[in-house]
Amino acid sequence: MKVAIVGAGIVGVAAAHALLDEGHEVLIVEREEPAFGPSRGNAGWIAHTDILPIASPKVLRQVPRFLADPLGPLSIRPAYLPKLLPWLARFVLASRPQAYERSIIGLAALQKLALPAWLARTERTKLSHHIHRKGGLYVFDDAGALAAARKVGERQAAFGIKVEMIGADELRQLEPALKPAFVGAAFHPDAAHISDPHQLTLALFEAALERGAVFEKAEVTNVSLGEHPALIGPDGWQRVVDRVVVAAGAWAKPLAAALGDAVPLDTERGYNVSFPAVTGLLSRPVGFEGHGFVATPLDSGFRIGGAVEFGGLKAPPNHARTRRLYDKAAGLIDGLPPFDSGKLWMGFRPSLPDSLPVIGPASRNPRVIYAFGHGHYGMTQSHVTANLVAALVAGRQPPIDLSPFSATRF
Ligand SMILES: Cc1cc2nc3c(=O)[nH]c(=O)nc-3n(C[C@H](O)[C@H](O)[C@H](O)COP(=O)(O)OP(=O)(O)OC[C@H]3O[C@@H](n4cnc5c(N)ncnc54)[C@H](O)[C@@H]3O)c2cc1C
Repeated sequence: MKVAIVGAGIVGVAAAHALLDEGHEVLIVEREEPAFGPSRGNAGWIAHTDILPIASPKVLRQVPRFLADPLGPLSIRPAYLPKLLPWLARFVLASRPQAYERSIIGLAALQKLALPAWLARTERTKLSHHIHRKGGLYVFDDAGALAAARKVGERQAAFGIKVEMIGADELRQLEPALKPAFVGAAFHPDAAHISDPHQLTLALFEAALERGAVFEKAEVTNVSLGEHPALIGPDGWQRVVDRVVVAAGAWAKPLAAALGDAVPLDTERGYNVSFPAVTGLLSRPVGFEGHGFVATPLDSGFRIGGAVEFGGLKAPPNHARTRRLYDKAAGLIDGLPPFDSGKLWMGFRPSLPDSLPVIGPASRNPRVIYAFGHGHYGMTQSHVTANLVAALVAGRQPPIDLSPFSATRF
């Protein structure tokens, strides 16, 4: 079959490989360049050990405190608030205990298959050296939060995820550059991180082209219905295919709407600063609990980032936010270079209110498959999503229940 993929982020590129595996003719259509969006500059964690959705009773309780600080871990640009209200209302609904439990089941099912899918793909494409398996740490400077994390660890263990609660001394042995502010940590020995999201997405993109995928730079403004759906773009541009995969990240909403699905997709804007010359400061990714940022020792340098800002896809970045992340990090990690020597970046997480992606057929045309909205976990879940997409294109029963990811679940 001829399959067109809209979007050359990590999800679209991963889908290309899974479809090539099955002998399809693959066309990747991208209006900018491969890895243009968040797939370029994210934190590079394969965070398959995270099974708790952002929409949760705990986060809901913390929201008022977070919003009180305009540069804090969560903020809403005032001008964007009216647009965001429907998303927020659904976020509140998704945070209710029963809905939260349902989201955990969906998230955990995807996360369980995420690392094996990454390992299999990088092995087949001879890119295994891009995956570092040194585990991941969540560090705590608050004894109460550390005690609460033990309960989370029990929850994760019930899903087969290994968690070791370690004390301050062991933490310092693992990561000597952390200042002595921490009372302990949750260590996930099976967590992984990648060399660099931009480099790896491009390497996978090139590998897909070598395997026969075709790339075209074009904007897709609509997809026609019918047995042979057509991608439609400006100035009469059109490509008729057998199946379409919509992997357009945070920009997928108008395409889904044109296909009859009013999906409440929005973007959680995230910020970071990278120091290309800095290597060896940490050995593994570290999340700083309660501070809203993470640090990753990428092969391409040291990256500090995080934050969630609601402000839509058009507002320019506010790097005062990045400065705030850096200042916090400088108080917790020894040896950071000056802020001004870093490279600043902002990216658009494609987010649904219940922290689950949309994976499945479009309502008006089952020949169009959605694969977008992976929020904080798109890098992690790219290849498992790709395998699910390939199953749907082939008409096979997917290996997990896809109802939590339906476009019509809201
Ligand atoms: C600060 C930050 C840190 C993060 N850290 C992590 C992490 O550590 N681990 C993790 O798993 N995830 C992380 N993420 C999330 C992750 O980066 C995203 O979920 C993921 O990159 C989404 O990939 P995608 O392919 O779905 O979308 P994108 O990367 O956005 O790709 C979509 C592509 O589609 C193209 N496109 C859109 N519309 C059209 C159209 N109409 N026609 C043609 N082309 C179109 C866009 O130009 C874009 O290139 C982070 C995100 C941010 C912002």
